[in-house]
Amino acid sequence: MSDIPHQNLAVIGHVDHGKSTMVGRLLYETGSVPEHVIEQHKEEAEEKGKGGFEFAYVMDNLAEERERGVTIDIAHQEFDTDEYNFTIVDCPGHRDFVKNMITGASQADNAVLVVAADDGVAPQTREHVFLARTLGIDELIVAVNKMDVVDYSEDTYKQVVSDVKDLLKQVQFNTEDASFIPTSAFEGDNVSEPSENTPWYDGETLLEALNSLPVPEPPTDAPLRLPIQDVYTISGIGTVPVGRIETGTLNTGDNVSFQPSDVGGEVKTIEMHHEEVPSAEPGDNVGFNVRGIGKDDIRRGDVCGPADEPPTVAETFQAQLVVMQHPSVITAGYTPVFHAHTAQVACTIESIDKKMDPSSGEVAEENPDFIQSGDAAVVTVRPQKPLSIEAASNIPELGSFAVRDMGQTIAAGKVLSVNE
Ligand code: GDP
Repeated sequence: MSDIPHQNLAVIGHVDHGKSTMVGRLLYETGSVPEHVIEQHKEEAEEKGKGGFEFAYVMDNLAEERERGVTIDIAHQEFDTDEYNFTIVDCPGHRDFVKNMITGASQADNAVLVVAADDGVAPQTREHVFLARTLGIDELIVAVNKMDVVDYSEDTYKQVVSDVKDLLKQVQFNTEDASFIPTSAFEGDNVSEPSENTPWYDGETLLEALNSLPVPEPPTDAPLRLPIQDVYTISGIGTVPVGRIETGTLNTGDNVSFQPSDVGGEVKTIEMHHEEVPSAEPGDNVGFNVRGIGKDDIRRGDVCGPADEPPTVAETFQAQLVVMQHPSVITAGYTPVFHAHTAQVACTIESIDKKMDPSSGEVAEENPDFIQSGDAAVVTVRPQKPLSIEAASNIPELGSFAVRDMGQTIAAGKVLSVNE
């Protein structure tokens, strides 16, 4: 479509702080939504006594989820600025956001953090900033939003900026990699045009800040890694594993290996969008067929890679993680479920090796007895069943995980090293 570089952008922040409205505003200001669609929904919103909801309604309409009312699906929307083609990746508020973000389906390069000026730093602000940090978001644009609600008060703005900076320091996010903008998504202040309502602010608008984001790192030249989502039996073809290629390429004739199931063979056919293709690349969702592989030989959670560079299977691995929320404390021996790519495996935190000091990034304590919400730590993990996972320094796409227990995501992290 366009030859400008692409960015995956996460829009994060506490519920109701204005994420959807901001995305609607960005789509609108960049001309990504036709004017007549906006008009139509303005009328509709006013009819329903929800004047001012027009952007939200636009988003709703695009997602065909209007019936859901206030919660709007802003994921996967695209807009172009002068410098970049942006795709909004899964946004928090969506049930599986944390999992999706981690399992690679929607790895973001940079993020916009929306913080409502009248509410300030709230629990999900904290949670999402922890996540962004752990998952290696490069730069953060902080929109201090709903400035109209606080009468464009510079003092309120400064207080929120100071609170967010404290939070960033706590999670070792370099505050120099964050920019701050007073906005109203609703009124459009400082989104594409400098606002007259904030004469005390002479920094960038949101669009300018988006344009000055660094160019995302090019995809790694890592070998093929294709986490298996499902395995089908299709008459006339046989066993067809399906999944999304994270790194490398898949070609017919390749010799591949599935780990940890530890089987392999030659790729006979590859299918994408119901058509046979000779090869497929990162981002492609494929179904394929491998000579000699039966339905019960492989399963969801396996990773397919080249036979001569097979996916790594961890006996144990060392990881850095951030505890987002846990009702009590985490000690050695704790065995929650780890979600990595398409795998879900119970893993024991065998030892807590180091606790990090969030303000300095230095080791605060060697071999602590426990860690709790808000702590960052280096831990050694032993999967209870074979798990294919990679060091994030080798293959970042396969090197992060979410830790879930009691129906919620309690921690997120990345793999430092794997002991095979
Ligand atoms: P999300 O949950 O973070 O996606 O928040 P929404 O975008 O759904 O916004 C929540 C509510 O705040 C809605 O009623 C919006 O109309 C309102 N809102 C969002 N941004 C602004 C703003 O800048 N100013 C004002 N006054 N209201 C806003």
